[in-house]
Amino acid sequence: MGVLYKSTRSKSEPVTASAAILKGLAADGGLFVPDQIPKLALSVEQLSGMSYQETAYEVMKLFLTDFTEEELKNCIAAAYDSKFDTEQIAPLREADGAYYLELFHGKTIAFKDMALSILPHLMLTAAKKNQVNNEIVILTATSGDTGKAALAGFADVKGTRIIVFYPKNGVSPVQEKQMVTQKGDNTYVIGIHGNFDDAQTGVKKLFADKELSALMEEKGFQFSSANSINIGRLVPQIVYYVYAYAKLYAQGKIKEGERINVVVPTGNFGNILAAFYAKNMGLPIAKLICASNENKVLYDFFRSGEYNRNREFVLTSSPSMDILISSNLERLIYRIAGEDAGQNAELMKQLSGEGRYSLTPQMEEQLSDFYGNYASEEETAQMISSLYRKTGYIIDTHTAVAAKVYEKYKAETNDGTKTVIASTASPFKFTRAVMQAIDEKYAKEDDFALADALSELGGVKIPEAIEKIRTAPVRHTKVCEKDEMRSVVKGILGLE
Ligand SMILES: *Cc1c(COP(=O)(O)O)cnc(C)c1O
Repeated sequence: MGVLYKSTRSKSEPVTASAAILKGLAADGGLFVPDQIPKLALSVEQLSGMSYQETAYEVMKLFLTDFTEEELKNCIAAAYDSKFDTEQIAPLREADGAYYLELFHGKTIAFKDMALSILPHLMLTAAKKNQVNNEIVILTATSGDTGKAALAGFADVKGTRIIVFYPKNGVSPVQEKQMVTQKGDNTYVIGIHGNFDDAQTGVKKLFADKELSALMEEKGFQFSSANSINIGRLVPQIVYYVYAYAKLYAQGKIKEGERINVVVPTGNFGNILAAFYAKNMGLPIAKLICASNENKVLYDFFRSGEYNRNREFVLTSSPSMDILISSNLERLIYRIAGEDAGQNAELMKQLSGEGRYSLTPQMEEQLSDFYGNYASEEETAQMISSLYRKTGYIIDTHTAVAAKVYEKYKAETNDGTKTVIASTASPFKFTRAVMQAIDEKYAKEDDFALADALSELGGVKIPEAIEKIRTAPVRHTKVCEKDEMRSVVKGILGLE
């Protein structure tokens, strides 16, 4: 029996996995959710001997049921290869009594690579399966990490083009350098004079532009989206929780069936939702610990049952978690509303109207598997420093938010359950904040000198992603005004 995908906002006809991947978002504005969460068919014993790729197949085949074995295995093989700097793909590292699941060994040294390495292949396969002959045009607005990971994923993938808009003065120097040096004849990177919201709004307008889509159809193009609500990003993220559990078992750290906690530094709620799905598949997870930075909407939500985005937006040292609307939370809301699309749609309407909504007591009761807390900027820096001093292990700012929240959780509960902390970025991606947390004396040095210092201190090689951009030539120099995005896209696609 196949899994179909239905919308969180209406009772519209469910679609196949491949159709959901192609569409990204349901026509009613809802998110696609599986009509059932499949159960893990294999024992931990069986999983413990498997490679990352084999585990990925066993997990993903249960969700993407309209893909053939050959199709799925081809996608997996193309995604999780030597682009990753370790054969383990997502290694575990024990430090100070916790297990750090390193999700940053891909091309752009952050966890978005885990899903964006495979999404292009899933999307092309989905296009073929659905008799789509158009060239797929991925259009993305980015505040830094997603854009680069999507560019790296789609670069030179036949049958696709990718266009990324970023705020010209709103990303870090390393992030900008990473993007403007992107190779690939099908990649286009454009800075806009405006902030991330301007870029995002512009992209949403282009997606909704009927005239443009008709023009594109005529010339054999169609838009698709690589953003984190696509189930083609969510499903690949379930894999590494299963893999981590099986590896802990294989290493004799846990017994079969022993429950573990999972801590996830959270922004859009995608990564932790994947852990929630893994738990619902039968993976023995006890607590899902949701870690926020000073933009602590989710902490307040888990404490009070009220989601309220009406607050000041704080720029932190963990920018990929600077988010006030966690889009993927909608999938959890839908579930705790008893899969009642009407009730969920009503709450989402309140969110877009008044910027807030409250759960019913019955809904709140179902959140007992979650624990939420947050780390301030000072606590985050202190965590990086104290873990380094105690163990020599250097973590990035996002991971440090999670580590700090785990510390708070332990102090509050005395829970001694073995715990996996999702480590979502390499410290080399946020070198400045990391090195300054370790010692103020680094404040004066330039980014590349800092990378050298970090390498020496942590005893780890500078990742190729950083090494490469030191010398890589700039390939993208286009900058436009925010009201020029439409004509820029038309120019790229030759529609004028
Ligand atoms: C995107 C991102 C996160 C947040 O993940 P969500 O799935 O949006 O919750 C955390 N850390 C890093 C480094 C990221 O790039």
